[in-house]
Amino acid sequence: MNASRKDQPGLSRLPVMASKRVHTNFENDDDTQPVQKKSRKEPVSVKPQTAATILGTRRPPITATRAPISRPMRGVGAATVAVAPSRGVSKAPLVSTAAKRGKMTAGAAPVVPKTGTADGPPRRLPWDMKGKVSDMKGKLQDYQIKMKSANMEKENLMGSLAELQSRAAEMERDLSKSQERLRVLLGVQEELERVSSEKKTLQTELSNLRDKYRVMETLRDSQETENQTLKMKLSVQESTLARVQDSLRRSEDEGRSLKDTVARLEDELHAGEMERRQLHNTLQELKGNIRVFCRVRPLANGALGEHIQLPANDAKAITLAKTEESHTGKSADTHKNYNFSFDRVFGPGATQQEIFEEISLLVQSALDGYSVCCFAYGQTGSGKTYTMEGDAEDQQARGMIPRAVQQIFAATHKLAAQGWEFSFTASFVEIYNECLRDLLYVGKASKRPEHEIRQSAGNKMTISNLAYKKVTSEDQVLCLIALANQNRSTAQTTQNDRSSRSHSVFQLDIEGINTGRDVKCNSTLCLVDLAGSERMLKSQSQGERFKEMTAINGSLSNLGIVITSLANKESHVPYRNSKLTYLLQGCLGGNSKTLMFVNIAPEADSFGETLNSLRFASKVNCCTIGTASANRK
Ligand code: ADP
Ligand code: MG
Repeated sequence: MNASRKDQPGLSRLPVMASKRVHTNFENDDDTQPVQKKSRKEPVSVKPQTAATILGTRRPPITATRAPISRPMRGVGAATVAVAPSRGVSKAPLVSTAAKRGKMTAGAAPVVPKTGTADGPPRRLPWDMKGKVSDMKGKLQDYQIKMKSANMEKENLMGSLAELQSRAAEMERDLSKSQERLRVLLGVQEELERVSSEKKTLQTELSNLRDKYRVMETLRDSQETENQTLKMKLSVQESTLARVQDSLRRSEDEGRSLKDTVARLEDELHAGEMERRQLHNTLQELKGNIRVFCRVRPLANGALGEHIQLPANDAKAITLAKTEESHTGKSADTHKNYNFSFDRVFGPGATQQEIFEEISLLVQSALDGYSVCCFAYGQTGSGKTYTMEGDAEDQQARGMIPRAVQQIFAATHKLAAQGWEFSFTASFVEIYNECLRDLLYVGKASKRPEHEIRQSAGNKMTISNLAYKKVTSEDQVLCLIALANQNRSTAQTTQNDRSSRSHSVFQLDIEGINTGRDVKCNSTLCLVDLAGSERMLKSQSQGERFKEMTAINGSLSNLGIVITSLANKESHVPYRNSKLTYLLQGCLGGNSKTLMFVNIAPEADSFGETLNSLRFASKVNCCTIGTASANRK
């Protein structure tokens, strides 16, 4: 038994109610015998033993304080508390209740023999009051002892409680520390998670970078290959460059010598151009400085008039044939031929282009610095305006003025390559009844200015208040011609057929300069559509018509006189006798070239006028104007 108790030092025996049997902690089994039985046999004074023994070094769990009631014990109320010996718990010796009870019951009345079972409480006889009192006292003592032991146990428990509380506090502190650590650990865990996710990202990045690196490596390899190829190419290029530089040096040398050659050739070209001008001029002079072209207008059906004969083998001859009936009737009809010859005779089939080909040589002379004057002479309806202006709508029927302008602008573009710069000034004037009228005037009719012809330096004639328009293109000139026609038709409505009774003079002043060669030239191209040359019967011409007729006849005959005077080298040339000759003074004579168209109407009833025109023209054609010289400085 002792060994078994020692084996279980942690067990504590808590006091229990008297009614309950308590398994006591005595030294031997004999002590567990009922007190009454012992005391009856041998009342022994028992050395009080500690009711509760604190055993073991470890504090028993609180739940173990209540000892299990294994076997009921009669009259024994002892309790053994097994507590840890530490923490200063006072170990008050507990008096064995059995011993005490044995002491107390030693002198008690004899115990009535048990009537019940051996385990049950002793039963007093009803009369044994003393015994009952003694039992009661015993019980009371038991209770008191129990109380004491309970109090002691309570104190122990209180101590344990305090210890436990302090321990709980300690544990709480531990707990809070642990919680703190836990929090730290949680933080660390979070950090760890974050770091691990970062690690994952970095790993992904790393693998991406590795991929890239691999790609870069591949690229680098290909670059290196390319580099090698480029190096090879470069070396090839370098050798090519060296060759090219070499050839460039040679080319530069060649270029320099070519430049010299170009300069030399330019000089030669310029000299050639000047020579060409001279030769061209000589040719024109040989052709005559005044030329007369005869142009026969076609009949409505395109045919030639019966009285006009054009020899097939001679482009210069024209014959007017007339058959006169015998007045007496006795003699045969007389046939009379009037033969004329001019520089050229154009039949009804001649086109504007064919005619211009002859004129274009003179236009070239105008660009070379020789003034050129071109007249259209003839009766009204003979084709003067058609020849000069033609039909602007029909490209084939364009007249001499637009064609000459076209040629001039085309030529200036070519001459620009040789260093020539040209400037052009156009004017368009009408002479009616010896009065000047600006055909390029655009202001109010009521404010038309008066004009006067003035002679300026270099024998150049200018008209006051006239619109001199600077032109740079063919189109601009064509616009001015259209404006002039508009102005003429406005005047036409107020005076019937005015245009046929007035001269219209288109002038283009040409100024050329070659700054590189320090050469200048200036000239004027005049294209004149003369008034109708028809003569009226004196009886028909009265009043205004007479005045007109006088003016026309005067200016046309004066034109003839001026040309004749120039041909005869007379000292006095009556330019001033008419506005027309005065205005054209600079373009007629010494240094100019003159071309006169004599336009012929093919109708039979125009015979007389045709004859007059041809006579006038042949008179002009016989003149030779003094050798022209270019206006060069
Ligand atoms: P003018 O100016 O001498 O009075 P026009 O030039 O006005 O004469 O000509 C009179 C008419 O004859 C116009 O209708 C014109 O178209 C026409 N004409 C003149 N010459 C020719 C020609 N060579 N070919 C065809 N038609 C012409
Ligand atoms: Mg006309």
